[in-house]
Amino acid sequence: MIRLSKSSIGEAEKQAVMGVLDREFLGMGEEVQQFEEVLTKFFGRPTVCVVNGTAALQLALQAIGIGDSDEVLVQSLTYVASFQAISATGAIPIACDVNSETLCLDWKDAEKRITSRTKAVMPVHFAGGVGALDGIYAFAANHGLRVIEDAAHAFGTEYQGKIVGGFGDIACFSFDGIKNITSGEGGCIVTEDEDVLQKVRNARLLGVENDTGKRFSGGRSWKFDVTAQGWRYHMSNIMAAIGIEQLKRFPEIASQRQLLARHYDSFFANHVQIQPIVNDYEKVIPHIYVVCIEGLKNRKALQEKLLKKGIQTGYHYQPNHWLNFYGSQHDMPFLPVTEDIFPKLLSLPLHHDLSEIDIEYVSNNIIQLSKLS
Ligand SMILES: *Cc1c(COP(=O)(O)O)cnc(C)c1O
Repeated sequence: MIRLSKSSIGEAEKQAVMGVLDREFLGMGEEVQQFEEVLTKFFGRPTVCVVNGTAALQLALQAIGIGDSDEVLVQSLTYVASFQAISATGAIPIACDVNSETLCLDWKDAEKRITSRTKAVMPVHFAGGVGALDGIYAFAANHGLRVIEDAAHAFGTEYQGKIVGGFGDIACFSFDGIKNITSGEGGCIVTEDEDVLQKVRNARLLGVENDTGKRFSGGRSWKFDVTAQGWRYHMSNIMAAIGIEQLKRFPEIASQRQLLARHYDSFFANHVQIQPIVNDYEKVIPHIYVVCIEGLKNRKALQEKLLKKGIQTGYHYQPNHWLNFYGSQHDMPFLPVTEDIFPKLLSLPLHHDLSEIDIEYVSNNIIQLSKLS
């Protein structure tokens, strides 16, 4: 079976976890501090680690003061985590359309949905590409909006010569099991905004003020104040130990993912029916590989045929504005690109441990079986 996605764990990660278990300090301590340090070097900007990517987004939103009845512009075509992070703050996610080539936020559509309550925009770096991110920043500046990049897919991607997270307002990453690098579960917030950094550091530990420094030196605060709502969203040493080892492997992980995506691209280059989303895999580190199959009538049937060939597929993502919790609260928006393209999307296997032969096998089967579907 060729899996759609999976973690890739080596001896070094296993040893690192054993090291933490041997020291019997499992919570947030030395390893989390180290992971933050190496990530800060990687991005060239301060980085705070938390328990997952969804928590990173929620804490970032709260740190810039997003709350009850505020509105945040976000593409509907994203993992439900983006929407849940917004609604967790009491704010309302406003579903927007995407660009049909990149499946990233279409800021011209977002602009139409601005109201007096709009406070921020959350572009999602779909599959690892960032689309027209400079356009989104210009749009946000024009309207006085904060930008929280949902960069869960885009760890390592370069844009205009800079690493995602290394520029802009606030970027949030995920290290869940199948993302570009993993710490088991995990996530981080990257920004230069000192106020946001401080608020996030406190909020991840139940709002206990300035606890981070004490935890990093093996202690904790006993006498403290709390001045804001906090959560138990910190990262553990077990997770950080995995993350540190994965980051060491990242150059190799990244080039393997790029190689596989380019290999897929080469099979579909002259194939009119199967159109991959458009990315430059010299710069983009792909998290998923998504194609749009023109004329596809029955995706489920195609997936079943592929499964019989030992090929697992998926689709990213069911539009969020169709979900009861988000659709029924508001007037249902009409998102022409999202609604047209969603039924034709298919995600093909992509993870570090695939070979070029696997990609060839998948591509040939997709090309064959799509004709009949
Ligand atoms: C994975 C993901 C997240 C959230 O990350 P978790 O670590 O799983 O909480 C957010 N947004 C998108 C688009 C994701 O794919």
